[in-house]
Amino acid sequence: MAENGASLPWPVLRQLLGRDLLGRGKAARSRRTDEVEPRTSTADRVAHSVCPYCAVGCGQNIFVKDEKIVQIEGNPDSPVNRGRLCPKGSASKNLVTSELRETKVRYRRPYGTEWEDLDLDTAMEMVVDRVLQTRRDTWQELDEKGRRVRRTMGIASLGGATLDNEENYLIKKLFTAMGAIQVENQARI
Ligand code: SF4
Repeated sequence: MAENGASLPWPVLRQLLGRDLLGRGKAARSRRTDEVEPRTSTADRVAHSVCPYCAVGCGQNIFVKDEKIVQIEGNPDSPVNRGRLCPKGSASKNLVTSELRETKVRYRRPYGTEWEDLDLDTAMEMVVDRVLQTRRDTWQELDEKGRRVRRTMGIASLGGATLDNEENYLIKKLFTAMGAIQVENQARI
């Protein structure tokens, strides 16, 4: 038997007879443990982002291999979470990799009871038509006291928590440029 009990088959024996009495080191390791390679070690690169799920704003490291996300972990350099993520943030890889994710445009007509698939070009044209018409109909140059506001109260954006940090950044830019001032996200509600 090795001096530290490393050759014993059962973790509890390794813990009691070796030097790892608290069972937080070698006693808890097996050959299988030693053979496992973390996905983070095989990534090509690491991108930094912010967890989109809530207003805490934990920093994330996004591990990418062959341009696909292989793991998301807390960023130890973030002063907000110092490397930690809650269960929601830890599961955020599924936001982009889950097979359950919708990849087609779904549309339900006014008074419709069923969802329809739309092709992206048709959907984009419909959105553009409605945005331009609403902006035209509701544009306010001045408020009731004569102050210049140059805004529309007819358009609002409510983002979902599954939008990522970069998407939220672009949405805020776009809506503000259009004159909308009601821009909000579920994470802040
Ligand atoms: S959902 Fe969790 S990991 Fe994401 S920002 Fe909030 S506390 Fe952090």
